[in-house]
Parts: sequence; C-alpha cells; structure tokens
Amino acid sequence: MPIYEFRCDKCGNRFEKLCSLGENGKELKCPKCSAVGAHRVMSGFTKKSSGGTEVIGSGGGSGCGSCSSTNCSSCGH
Ligand SMILES: [Zn+2]
Repeated sequence: MPIYEFRCDKCGNRFEKLCSLGENGKELKCPKCSAVGAHRVMSGFTKKSSGGTEVIGSGGGSGCGSCSSTNCSSCGH
C-alpha cells in the first residue's frame, strides 16, 4: 500500500499515512489536533535514484526520461 501525505485543514499539520488507493483522507483524524477532514497533499513528481541516475517520472511508471520505447537500456523498460 502506498503512503500518502495529508495536511490538516485546521492546524496545518502534515502527516503521512499508509492507506489504500483512492483514499482521500476525508475520514482521517489529525494526530495533532484530532480534527477530522485532512486533505491529501499531492507531492507531484516522484524522485528516486537508481544506479546513480536520478529518475523523475510522471507517476505513470513508464520508465526513465529517455524512454521512447519499451526497450530502454538505462531503466529496463
Ligand atoms: Zn490538525
């Protein structure tokens, strides 16, 4: 399961939670002030490094930036 980042509407506290896909945090309680109604924070691009090369993907899991086909030698896609 993915870890999402949420932000509390009331106190602005940010916290991470393991939740199932599609969960939007509406039912989540803020660990700091116990207010219900946190919003999911979209962290945007996922930045991860593999083999010394930094790969910034669009979240679609389509491989590295130089992937134009399904036969990329740098990421294996
Ligand atoms: Zn809060």
